[in-house]
Amino acid sequence: MTEHVVIVGAGTGGTVLANDLADRLEREIDAGDVEVTLYNDDPDHVYKPVWLYVPFGLREPEDGRRALSDLVDDRIDLRIDRITDLDSDAKELRTRDGAGTVRYDHLVLATGSTLAPETVPGLAEAGHDFYSEDGAEALREDLLAFEEGRVVLSVVGSPHMCPAAPLEFAFMVDDWFRKRGLRDDVEVVYTYPIQRVHGNPHIAEWAEPIMKERGIEVHTFVNAEEIDPDAETIETMEGDSIDYDLLVTIPPHAGVDLIAEAGLGDEGWVDVDSHTLEATAAEDVYALGDTADTGVPKAGSVAHYQAGVVAQRIASDVRGRPATATYDGKTLCFIETGMDEASFVEFDYETPPSPAPPSTALHWSKLSYNESYWLTARGLL
Ligand SMILES: Cc1cc2nc3c(=O)[nH]c(=O)nc-3n(C[C@H](O)[C@H](O)[C@H](O)COP(=O)(O)OP(=O)(O)OC[C@H]3O[C@@H](n4cnc5c(N)ncnc54)[C@H](O)[C@@H]3O)c2cc1C
Repeated sequence: MTEHVVIVGAGTGGTVLANDLADRLEREIDAGDVEVTLYNDDPDHVYKPVWLYVPFGLREPEDGRRALSDLVDDRIDLRIDRITDLDSDAKELRTRDGAGTVRYDHLVLATGSTLAPETVPGLAEAGHDFYSEDGAEALREDLLAFEEGRVVLSVVGSPHMCPAAPLEFAFMVDDWFRKRGLRDDVEVVYTYPIQRVHGNPHIAEWAEPIMKERGIEVHTFVNAEEIDPDAETIETMEGDSIDYDLLVTIPPHAGVDLIAEAGLGDEGWVDVDSHTLEATAAEDVYALGDTADTGVPKAGSVAHYQAGVVAQRIASDVRGRPATATYDGKTLCFIETGMDEASFVEFDYETPPSPAPPSTALHWSKLSYNESYWLTARGLL
């Protein structure tokens, strides 16, 4: 009988996994012993890191989109449809558009993050973001026209995708106004919900002195209770009020409803074993990337490394061998520290990050990686 592997979500994690399985299980798929189906609710694959550059007029949202049909191996049964229900006891899924029930033997949830600005009153009306295509384009309109006043970058929700991105935006916007001769007329303000500038203490310790040196005003322990779009203030749970002229936020995030409804984890993140990536509340279910609650950053590099582990584990299982591959927490990240320089960090569960000295070479490495990403997604790098 054909074993059915179903992957839900064709972002970074799901696409890399599907292409890896197509390669690894080529013989079994060609013989009809294994079928791999990949579901995504959008015909395009979206590469989100491009959005960081959109507000500065450097990239277009379309630069981060490619048709999944061009990226996914022909051996994969690609379905553009949304999974709406999951019954992990019966090992069944239901789709929005498809007829009937989909049975699986192995399920991988790679459904990513969603934005939840509605959880903070006033945020959706007042705050710009660069965490969505529309948000990044709207921010570009206002940022390009902004010549004086207070730009506030506020991290409202955590955990969020790419923990480095708010730091990158703050460093880039400072440098961007400086290079355009407007920095004396523009205040750059950064707020973070805990008592330091970043969730990781090593990265916070590195970033804070750079912010001070560049005159970026820092407010820590800022948790927005509501945003008042008329008064242009962030009202905080701590009882403070922070003025802005242009507000850029990292909105609160959540996973998809499907996961909480299936009892696999709170807020749409799947509870997993942080090494095997197996769901703790269901058999034969893996989660990877943003969806997997492992405590590591919600980053594409994480999704990529985890996809390799899950592919090896599923292939072993299909072949009746013990699954031994495990994820070690590996995370890799370039951090823009201005418009033309960047740092780099690499860490795992055991080794803390130690940011490299910023350089132009690292900035170009980040831009090169963004270009070569499309080969990575295809499984060619
Ligand atoms: C501005 C910005 C900059 C970033 N920069 C970096 C960076 O420099 N480096 C880095 O490593 N990471 C970066 N990231 C983070 C990175 O983009 C994410 O962590 C990564 O995309 C997560 O991959 P994923 O496969 O888990 O989810 P995603 O790539 O989000 O994919 C999830 C997919 O699942 C689909 N889906 C969801 N629910 C369903 C359903 N029920 N049925 C069918 N399909 C469904 C979605 O439509 C989507 O296609 C950045 C993110 C942002 C927003």
